Amino acid sequence: MSDSIQAVRGMRDVSPEEAPRWARLERIARRVLDAYGYREVRLPLVEKTELFRRSIGEVTDIVEKEMYTFEDRNGESLTLRPEGTAGCVRAGLQHGWFQQPGRRLWYLGPMFRHERPQQGRYRQFHQIGVEAYGMPGPDIDAEIVVLTARLWRELGIDDVRLEINTLGDAADRAAYRARLVDYFEAHRGDLDEDSRRRLYTNPLRILDSKNPDLQALIAGAPQLGAHVGAGCREHFEGFKAALQDLGVGFVVNPRLVRGLDYYNRTVFEWVTDRLGAQGTVCAGGRYDGLVEQLGGRSTPAVGFAMGLERLLALLGESWGAGSGEADVYVVAVGAAAERAAARLAERLRDALPGVRVLAHCGGGSFKSQFKRADRSGARFALVLGEEEVRGGRVAVKPLRGAQKQETVADAEVAAYLARALRGGPEG
Ligand code: ATP
Ligand code: MG
Repeated sequence: MSDSIQAVRGMRDVSPEEAPRWARLERIARRVLDAYGYREVRLPLVEKTELFRRSIGEVTDIVEKEMYTFEDRNGESLTLRPEGTAGCVRAGLQHGWFQQPGRRLWYLGPMFRHERPQQGRYRQFHQIGVEAYGMPGPDIDAEIVVLTARLWRELGIDDVRLEINTLGDAADRAAYRARLVDYFEAHRGDLDEDSRRRLYTNPLRILDSKNPDLQALIAGAPQLGAHVGAGCREHFEGFKAALQDLGVGFVVNPRLVRGLDYYNRTVFEWVTDRLGAQGTVCAGGRYDGLVEQLGGRSTPAVGFAMGLERLLALLGESWGAGSGEADVYVVAVGAAAERAAARLAERLRDALPGVRVLAHCGGGSFKSQFKRADRSGARFALVLGEEEVRGGRVAVKPLRGAQKQETVADAEVAAYLARALRGGPEG
């Protein structure tokens, strides 16, 4: 196998055993989002490179070094989406989605970033993104957070904490920026290469650095809070009060900045200590300037994205594991029995919606077929041999629990199974 083609580094396959966990996570998330009136959108995986340069910001990790950018056959520069917000704003502008005030949208799908692969960090990963447009107040900021808290409850996740901060508005950050440059200039020798390069282009990015050697320096940096104007402070107070009203605990982390340029005012992250350096499972904030920046009318907006690989890692391997391939496995030996088995399986699928009926294919002895039936996880094997076919009967053999095998008339099998399967796994 060593010379066979492998997956691209940092891009994972989801096995048939793992897929039910994904499906369950998606089902629960969908239910929670529905409960708040959010509507799904499905967006392209590829956008014009320009879109990300203009929204995420030129001097960010994503745009500087993480994007999968290529020329298509017409020579146009395209990029595999590294995140979903930019494409969502692009689509909303293109189709006039923001003309209706109070748009609540969400999407799910793969994102692509050329990062160093490690536990919880991949080059193709999956996000659920949630975006709310046209609502300027802190009430909607609190809504998307309380929605997330509900999702954690429904998933059974209890070891994440909410960190919040306010980034103020552009003018606040300009004043703060000058102080920050002074501070880091005084410690120029302690900066790493990335940070030195960003010192004058985007000094706020230095605060978001993951380099452990810089953490002490960052901890000593002046804080943005002192520069935040009255309007933003009031918004932040309203946000905190709403969270308290709704019973969502939080800590204010004055050092929290986000890795994308478009955020203002509210930012937040849900963090866990259980996933090492990849501890942020969900992150977002307000981005009131982005719609206008991309050519639309000024439209307040707030949103977040959560990383599904990290959530599944947090949930552990036993969560949502599937229950095998089948509930009922149909075993048949002999040509006539095989044909009868295929017809029987079809009739059962008609009569028993939601029950998984697996018909053995490929022949073989009773013994080998029973082995397969057992491995399938099915609770019952239906057995057809020459004799059963001639008599219009089926042998129902319980594969789990202590029930006895019974012979049932062909016409009664569906009703028999409906009763037996209701009886719970032990029977
Ligand atoms: P990090 O600080 O871990 O690099 P980020 O700030 O770059 O995260 P966002 O752009 O805010 O992440 O994306 C939102 C969420 O998507 C993250 O909190 C994380 O759960 C997930 N995520 C981001 N990048 C990756 C990745 N390369 N692999 C897996 N999940 C990721
Ligand atoms: Mg990142």
